[in-house]
Amino acid sequence: MTGLSRRGFSALLGASAITSLSLPSISASHKAELPDSRNARVVIVGGGWSGLSIANYIKNENEKIDVVLVERRTSFFSLPLSNLFIGGLMTQAQLTHRFENAAKLSGYVYFNASMTELDRSKRRIETNKGWIGYDSLVLAPGVDYDYSSFGVKDPKAVAELKSNFPAGFVSVEEQLKIKKQLANFEKGVFVLTAPPGIYRCAASPYERACLIAATFKQRKIKGKVVLIDSREEPAVNGEGFLTAFEELYGDTIEYMNSTGIEGIDPHTKVIKTDFDDIKFDGGAIYPRTRAAGMIERFGLSDPASPQKEAKIDPFNYNFVEDKHVYVTGDCRPMPFSKSASVANSEAKHVAKVISARLQGREAKWVTPESVCYSMVNTQPQEAILSRSFYRFDEKSKQWAFDPKSKPYNTRSETFGKETFNWGKDHFRELFG
Ligand SMILES: Cc1cc2nc3c(=O)[nH]c(=O)nc-3n(C[C@H](O)[C@H](O)[C@H](O)COP(=O)(O)OP(=O)(O)OC[C@H]3O[C@@H](n4cnc5c(N)ncnc54)[C@H](O)[C@@H]3O)c2cc1C
Repeated sequence: MTGLSRRGFSALLGASAITSLSLPSISASHKAELPDSRNARVVIVGGGWSGLSIANYIKNENEKIDVVLVERRTSFFSLPLSNLFIGGLMTQAQLTHRFENAAKLSGYVYFNASMTELDRSKRRIETNKGWIGYDSLVLAPGVDYDYSSFGVKDPKAVAELKSNFPAGFVSVEEQLKIKKQLANFEKGVFVLTAPPGIYRCAASPYERACLIAATFKQRKIKGKVVLIDSREEPAVNGEGFLTAFEELYGDTIEYMNSTGIEGIDPHTKVIKTDFDDIKFDGGAIYPRTRAAGMIERFGLSDPASPQKEAKIDPFNYNFVEDKHVYVTGDCRPMPFSKSASVANSEAKHVAKVISARLQGREAKWVTPESVCYSMVNTQPQEAILSRSFYRFDEKSKQWAFDPKSKPYNTRSETFGKETFNWGKDHFRELFG
């Protein structure tokens, strides 16, 4: 498609347009200040791995499409590789990038604002800096934490856990707190948890255990890293992680598998499990994740989804009741790895879907790919790897791993180097 105007686009999709007048209408505010464009506009909310990748790939598909990326943060911090930041192998600066550079590189608009409301009947979003109309909307707001999965429901206790023992799976601020906590940690139990359900970055709690234990060894800290997991074995790369725990950190990591958490008291620093009470001195407590609250608030979540994920067409990513609204990244309900590599690779497909639909066509589904390196040793820097692809089994109507998926459980310096290269390649692609 080249240069399809907004009117042409509306005519194309008019027949399928949502006309439900009963949808909540957002209060009138001013129009956001954005460059004028006569072309179809795609608004993307969330400049994480999913939103940034989709913005980039839509412009690659068709540079005439007017793309606006709405992101509340003023700079990008990469969560992938952030365990390496905690473990002292990378700096904050190496993981921080400018949205302005990404927008300039691909030719879209970065609008630094927070989305507050959605009006599907008018095809508008409201932000703290005015409303924006869209022809297609992509919501990629990431995840929120659900502490009730660990039996913690009291808002004060939740706030204390978030503040004192942050999970470090959403923001740079949490990462900085964990780093500071570690820097001041002298002895005792540093607790980590692997949450139930499909959580953001399956390998990460296990990789983090290795990197914190490596820090303990280097600094000769008389402490233990206790990793509590309800699973029988690590969610991914079981053999690779268990071998690293045993061979490299035998007396430093205690892996408590098959252990469910029933409650946490942030005051007394006690975790109640279905087996025992565990006293801890520091930690990064990672509860179950759920799709960011806005998905539920805007009526887009699947009531049957325990993690409040979006009710979307799993092949085209549009909300089942509205072909103009897409939900991507870690808010998707498909059981793909909640990872940056899946967000990035599915973005290529979503960009094709949106671009094709603007021309009245459809795009063929392709599997996303999960590529996950985990640094398990620091001296030398050795990593393991897991690669996954997916397929939909028509018979059972279930998603399954494609047979070409494979774990690489033998740690190596080659994978160690590739870990850094994975980051460099993606940062170059997105930010220049
Ligand atoms: C410690 C750690 C290690 C990881 N390691 C890896 C790895 O090795 N490999 C890998 O592939 N993945 C890894 N991941 C997972 C990866 O970070 C996530 O899966 C990925 O970030 C998901 O992308 P997303 O775009 O869905 O969400 P996010 O990246 O979280 O982006 C969401 C964005 O939406 C913005 N937003 C939310 N609400 C609003 C609003 N109302 N208005 C405007 N903006 C809004 C947020 O500010 C944020 O920028 C790791 C994650 C962590 C935490």
